[in-house]
Amino acid sequence: MFDSHVHAAPDIVPRIGDDAAIGDAYATSGFAGFVLKAHYESTVGRAHAVAQATGLTVHGGIALNQHVGGVNPAAVAAALGAGGRVVWMPTADAHTQRAAGLPRLCNHEPLLSPRAYAIPPVDPTAEPAVDDILSLIADADAVLATGHLSAEECLWLADRTPRYGVSRILFTHPSYTVPGIDPAGVRSLAERGGFVEITAYQLLHQPGCTPALLARVAEAAGERLVLSSDTGQPDSPMPAEALTMLVDVLAGEGLDRGWLADAATTVPYELFAPR
Ligand SMILES: [Zn+2]
Repeated sequence: MFDSHVHAAPDIVPRIGDDAAIGDAYATSGFAGFVLKAHYESTVGRAHAVAQATGLTVHGGIALNQHVGGVNPAAVAAALGAGGRVVWMPTADAHTQRAAGLPRLCNHEPLLSPRAYAIPPVDPTAEPAVDDILSLIADADAVLATGHLSAEECLWLADRTPRYGVSRILFTHPSYTVPGIDPAGVRSLAERGGFVEITAYQLLHQPGCTPALLARVAEAAGERLVLSSDTGQPDSPMPAEALTMLVDVLAGEGLDRGWLADAATTVPYELFAPR
């Protein structure tokens, strides 16, 4: 399996293990690799180190929150220039997160601005910066992940990417509380050529989330489905167990196990692999 979304220590919030412990656990579980995510810094150097230590395929990237200057092309240029494979649009500092009352990075340090980030059509002034970022992602043939942006911003991005040649889009857990897109909306995202993520975190922690709802979302994603853990929280199972559990739960809803296995293995592996 290949887990395209996991969090590890060091972090500004507690994690279940550090990069080395989580990498060793994936190796013990027979995983091919994983994508290391952090909300507040580039994980490119950390991913390189844990790949060297474990022999697994480990990719890093950058999430565009306040700690890296928000929607900041310079931060993207550094992360992709150093070998990063993914850029997540604003996550914990997205405007949707503030509107939903979910935890934000500025909550951890009172000195920080409470500002939240958006892109067009919610914040038209961000257009030049987003265009530069799309150009950088295309040049690196990296993955554009939508983070916690709203449905209308996800659609704007998907429609914007062709002019820059971005070929890899991953809609970050669209059925999570943020952005909260229903199965019909997920189908329209998949029809635009992007991949659709469902996470074990949703099953473990999302209020109101049920196996039946996730199964409907998976069906809407079809061949564009990506299953990941999005774990690393101290109160979640270890990531490899969490992703295996997600596959089992969806199979229990009557979905084809071979298709689900691909969505947790070859589909994400190839999505992130450099060509
Ligand atoms: Zn995450």
